[in-house]
Amino acid sequence: MENSSNKKLLNPFALPSETDARFRLLIVAVIVTSLILGNYIPVYFLPDDLTKDLLSPDVNFTEKNLDSPDYLKESGMNMIYNSLEYFPSIIVMFFILFLTTVCIVIIYRRHPGNIKSKQNLISADKDETGKYLRLKEEIKNLSDRCGIDPPEIFIAPQFTTGSQAFGVSEHKSIRIDNGLRLMLIKNREKFRSVILHELGHFANRDVTKTYISQSVWKAVLYVFAIPTFILAVFTLLNNVIRKLSGGLESGDIKDIFFQSIPAFIILILSLTGVFLTIHLLLKSILRTREFYADRRAANEGVKESLISYFGENLNKEKISSGIKGFFRWHPSLKERIDCLKDPSVLFVMRYDLCFFVGLLIPFSILSILTLGKVAISLTGIISGAGQVVSQNPGFNFLTILISILLFILLCFVPFIITSYLISSSLGNQIQRSVIFSLSSGDKKIPGFKKLFLISLILTIGMAAGCLILPYFSVLNIFITSGVKEILTEKLPFMILTIISAFTVNFLWVYFVEHFSESLFCRYNKSEKPGKRNFIFNIISSLLLSVMILPVAVFYFKIYSSEIELLNELLIYLLIAVPVIYIMVFILTGLILGIVNSKKIACNNCGKQLPQGNLIGKNCDNCNSVISRWLYL
Ligand SMILES: [Zn+2]
Ligand SMILES: [Zn+2]
Repeated sequence: MENSSNKKLLNPFALPSETDARFRLLIVAVIVTSLILGNYIPVYFLPDDLTKDLLSPDVNFTEKNLDSPDYLKESGMNMIYNSLEYFPSIIVMFFILFLTTVCIVIIYRRHPGNIKSKQNLISADKDETGKYLRLKEEIKNLSDRCGIDPPEIFIAPQFTTGSQAFGVSEHKSIRIDNGLRLMLIKNREKFRSVILHELGHFANRDVTKTYISQSVWKAVLYVFAIPTFILAVFTLLNNVIRKLSGGLESGDIKDIFFQSIPAFIILILSLTGVFLTIHLLLKSILRTREFYADRRAANEGVKESLISYFGENLNKEKISSGIKGFFRWHPSLKERIDCLKDPSVLFVMRYDLCFFVGLLIPFSILSILTLGKVAISLTGIISGAGQVVSQNPGFNFLTILISILLFILLCFVPFIITSYLISSSLGNQIQRSVIFSLSSGDKKIPGFKKLFLISLILTIGMAAGCLILPYFSVLNIFITSGVKEILTEKLPFMILTIISAFTVNFLWVYFVEHFSESLFCRYNKSEKPGKRNFIFNIISSLLLSVMILPVAVFYFKIYSSEIELLNELLIYLLIAVPVIYIMVFILTGLILGIVNSKKIACNNCGKQLPQGNLIGKNCDNCNSVISRWLYL
């Protein structure tokens, strides 16, 4: 081992990076925000009576009567008309989602051009004087060393020593400040460490993630943030003026102070919360990616020169602590030095990630409702059309079957995809922390405390998510309901939602922790778990998306305790979910157990190994490191 203290260092690239995990969360955040805001923005442009129709059209389902063909035909027409009621809102919603996507793509594709023109960059590749020959040569050599195609080189006029990796997909570009160019002559080692860090961003595929994230933030700002704030102010003023115009009555003033203004404040708070979340996710992606790029550079042999380079600037750096730390664009130099010395810190769970994951869960749940609208509409049209075209029972059965399948596809597939993205991000970080505690030997008691803490922060995140959901914030209930109603109907369901959420989170986190331990400790002594790990991620994600359903029902009941269907659904779910959890637990155990019963042998000498945690230990026969792939 290169390390003199003989301590094995965990390899941050052994598992998918935390940058990936955070990037997934950002993508989920922007999709669910677009769906929810896209569903509500049209409301501002409609009169009150149409607004109600738009959000929940009156659909009169015809009673089933298979006796007369005429009746079937008529009810088929009814179904089509009912479904068409939803269409305007669906079109607006998808238009807004489409607009956001187009905005993101345009901003993303234009970023290289913008960077070049804003910073007056000149292409070194097009230079014919030959003064950049050595620079090009050097960067080409370093790129070969990292195994990537050499980027196009751009020179910035200023004499600072900065550098920046950018570019769209395969077209890699790098900005070199004039000062950095001169450093190649003055201090070649330092030059190399800066360039290798930037090339590390290419190798980690950070450039796409970074600029897509920045485009997401800008698109959200233009498409949603500015318009929704303006609309909210406009609605408040409109409400106040309308109430005042009919002559001032004491009831109106009460309405303004106890309804319009609080509703406005809640909306502004929730919109701020949503945009802040997206902004903080962006910044955390930008900070996290630096550690991994530093590590790439260190792997190419410039660890010590990077540490000394950061060390020189350490005193000049302003340190922002506490909450301010979440707003930083870059990690502090001290953090970067610590991480270079021991990258195992990248295996420690960062609790802000748990919070963000929790925050996105209510958004993901609510977007089912939005997609449900699309599903109801399309299934209504298909089965209605089926009845109009033919009154044959077999044919009708077929169209109904197709529409049910479509309904499931539209409602649950997006939900499952978002829960996969959400839970695999957290799952990935739990796996990292499991590896950390297994290899550092601190286990058991802190492990249980940690599970509790993760579930608690997840639950707090979920509660915060319920508060900041635009238009659906739980806070709205306190304005629209009376004190008695709040105490007897709303509060009990709020408490039940929190208790069930915590229970589900705890059980799920326990599941992931328990089987990650089995996965890494018992079965993958010498090679990467690869496919097995991927399958485990899918199973745990599906499990979470099922387990969260009773929480979702309790949550919906806060808004409306009268829907009979929810009560029935709740009873089934409360019985089914524990059974499913236990079954999945046993099955996962069995599957991993079958693998376990196979002989586990040292990858190097083939000697059979004993049971137990062997991560990072040496084979007592040939002395090679077990689970070598986890270490640098
Ligand atoms: Zn960087
Ligand atoms: Zn061996």
